Amino acid sequence: MQRLDSLLIDKAALVIDDEPVLRKLTGRVLTDLGMRIVHTAEHGDDALAQLDSGKTRYDVLILDLNMPGMDGVELLRHLATRTYAGGIVLLSGVDTKVLHTAEQLALHHQLHILGAINKPVTSAALGGALARLDRLGRMPMAMQAVLLSPDEIAAGIERDTIIPFFQPKVATLSGSLIGVEALARWDAGDGRVLGPGAFIPVAEECGLIEPLTETIFSKAIAQAAIWQAEGSDFRVAVNFSVHTLNSLTLVDFIVSVARENGVDLDRITVEVTESKLMERLAEPLEVLTRLRMKGVHLSIDDFGTGFSSMEQLKRLPFTELKLDRAFVAGASRDPSTRAMLESTLELARKLEVEFVAEGVETEADWKLLELLSVDTAQGYYVASPMPGPDILPWYKNFRK
Ligand code: C2E
Ligand code: CA
Ligand code: CA
Repeated sequence: MQRLDSLLIDKAALVIDDEPVLRKLTGRVLTDLGMRIVHTAEHGDDALAQLDSGKTRYDVLILDLNMPGMDGVELLRHLATRTYAGGIVLLSGVDTKVLHTAEQLALHHQLHILGAINKPVTSAALGGALARLDRLGRMPMAMQAVLLSPDEIAAGIERDTIIPFFQPKVATLSGSLIGVEALARWDAGDGRVLGPGAFIPVAEECGLIEPLTETIFSKAIAQAAIWQAEGSDFRVAVNFSVHTLNSLTLVDFIVSVARENGVDLDRITVEVTESKLMERLAEPLEVLTRLRMKGVHLSIDDFGTGFSSMEQLKRLPFTELKLDRAFVAGASRDPSTRAMLESTLELARKLEVEFVAEGVETEADWKLLELLSVDTAQGYYVASPMPGPDILPWYKNFRK
């Protein structure tokens, strides 16, 4: 425990638990472990108020998942929108399944989970989780939250600093390239490349998401035309924020960009996140329906993170269901993740839409997808996102 002592000596923790006795107990364990500052919050709102006040910079949050009012799972979402860069330890008095699912969701939100512990908290379990704070401290800058300002983003759109990378979507059984997904990147030009977390949320908030989406879409379709000229006709998917799907000029924009580049509309896929879509289904429905009528493919992204009913799914003219990686990664070893994967696959088959599993990181998970005859897979195990010109050379090598 010597090393932990020196690690915690300059750190501050916030314990968020609705049970006064457990709050005190966890606080005492932390102090005994050598944590310098320990504060407490009774519920999610209280915790957010303390974080937002900025009075103390908390290196770690100890978070109980079950609380009345704003629970721990909801709080995780708020922490993600604030790109909280400290460590988080999850606590739960309920079964390990809940804890595991929450951990997956938190990872999906790009939060730094140090551990997930069943209550009651012991010194050994909490100490083990806190030891990982060390790793967090040594993370490269690129992994820590960087947020670009609206001015930087506007300039980046003008100056071609915001560009698409592409990640392959391959058929699980044959290994053929079904399509690629365009993912926005900020190319600083000096070797630094930032992911969308650094600018998409800001762009959405300050009204720059439309020009940004138009830039990514135009560049992705121009790249599709190049691939086509080289003899490849796989599809190209672009992510659209639900806010951009209200604009009735969007359909004309997509059609005219495709026409200018000589790319057929049925080679284009529009991906929309499930949870955002379900929040406001009525407005985008017209745009989505018109796009589908013209041949554009529609994908429900991050499936499993929202709460679509069968009824809503039937109303939407989508052609692809993309299961969120929280329900794919680790499916080969975790029975509840696998159950989610299998039941969504069955749902996709009933709805007669393509099924894409995203976030395939290991051979074991890939093998499971093969076994289940999943249509399409995407993830680091297949390939990471890469610049457009790298796709065909990658594919040549992949097929060998
Ligand atoms: P998404 O649409 O779910 O995209 C998949 C994300 O998972 C990408 O992150 C990709 O790099 C990452 N990924 C791929 N394979 C794996 C894997 O095996 N393991 C793990 N852990 N992650 C994997 P990225 O590029 O950081 O994008 C994050 C999100 O930002 C996207 O999630 C999408 O919602 C949004 N986004 C990206 N580009 C755009 C854009 O042009 N417009 C809009 N509106 N949103 C975008
Ligand atoms: Ca996507
Ligand atoms: Ca996704």
